[in-house]
Amino acid sequence: MEKKVHNFNPGPAALPFPVLKEIKENFLNFSGSGMSIVETSHRSPLFDEVLNDAVNRTKRLLGLDENYHVLFIQGGASLQFCMIPMNLALPGGPVNYINTGTWSTKAIKEARIQGKDVKVIASSEDKDFSYIPSDFTVDRQASYLHFTSNNTIRGTQWQEFPNGEGIPLISDMSSDFMSRPIDVKPFGLVYAGAQKNIGPSGIAMVIIRDDMLERVPDNLPTMLKYTTYKDNRSLFNTPPTFAIYVIDLVLKWLEETIGGLKEIEQINKQKASLIYDVIDNSDIYHGTTDVKSRSLMNVTFRLPDKKTEERFLAEATQNGLHGLKGHKSVGGCRASLYNAITIDSVTELVAFMREFEEEL
Ligand SMILES: *Cc1c(COP(=O)(O)O)cnc(C)c1O
Repeated sequence: MEKKVHNFNPGPAALPFPVLKEIKENFLNFSGSGMSIVETSHRSPLFDEVLNDAVNRTKRLLGLDENYHVLFIQGGASLQFCMIPMNLALPGGPVNYINTGTWSTKAIKEARIQGKDVKVIASSEDKDFSYIPSDFTVDRQASYLHFTSNNTIRGTQWQEFPNGEGIPLISDMSSDFMSRPIDVKPFGLVYAGAQKNIGPSGIAMVIIRDDMLERVPDNLPTMLKYTTYKDNRSLFNTPPTFAIYVIDLVLKWLEETIGGLKEIEQINKQKASLIYDVIDNSDIYHGTTDVKSRSLMNVTFRLPDKKTEERFLAEATQNGLHGLKGHKSVGGCRASLYNAITIDSVTELVAFMREFEEEL
């Protein structure tokens, strides 16, 4: 089984090839049980081992202390847009948001639907979400400050997290989760849809601090309370067992094969700089974002006109380079360079970009 194409999909995205191989090899006989993982009870000791392993690897990779809990919740990152204000907005006070693009906008919308006192304290909408704002004041009474650490569609990323000045930070890290070390202490909650950096779609990993759990109101539906997932170790109902199994394998790969978050950050920096170098030294490729704000995970760029972009994408595909089309809301091109993308794949893309420019 050889890898056939270079997959730059934005999400669901490439998973580490050794992990895919391991899934294939063990699919019919999980851990010597004679059953597939997808036939195994979520209450069996074998699955318990998988779940515990995924939680413990997460704690080690992120350096979490006992104040933090690792939860698996269905509904992707989008359900978190709704659960966060529902569970964590304190009565009477505002909730603060920074708007850096589509996903932040959706998170803000869900808080407003619930009638929360939403204050957007900064936004980069004035310049088409092409930069990360640096000028804002956090409300002293805010329940939390929410921001999107990496803007998958616009190709911007917080290089340094906003200073919450004691107000708990909450971040949607879907598209750069586990791509670099973070200091988790200022965070009350971090969440990530799995399908960008850590696994299959349909599930979010949520890291939540003890004091946030104390805020959860009693009168919420059971499945929408963080305490339900914490008290039942994400096993209140049947969780997506296969997704958690794959996440565990990806985390094992990250910890044991790559070596951890410092190591993957170096690789991610190297990959992004290979492409930004081409863009910075080109007459036909133009980055779409402020240089100081650009993302290591999603490199967005344009070509001189739509026709040339279409030709670029078609020829890229013919050359085995897939998933380079920009999000439908913004157009252009985007190379998503999540953890599983190898330097080899990026080198191929860079060679193709140079060749395309020469022949144009
Ligand atoms: C992909 C993405 C989402 C949406 O995730 P779902 O799992 O589809 O809900 C949310 N936020 C960011 C930053 C994303 O990249």
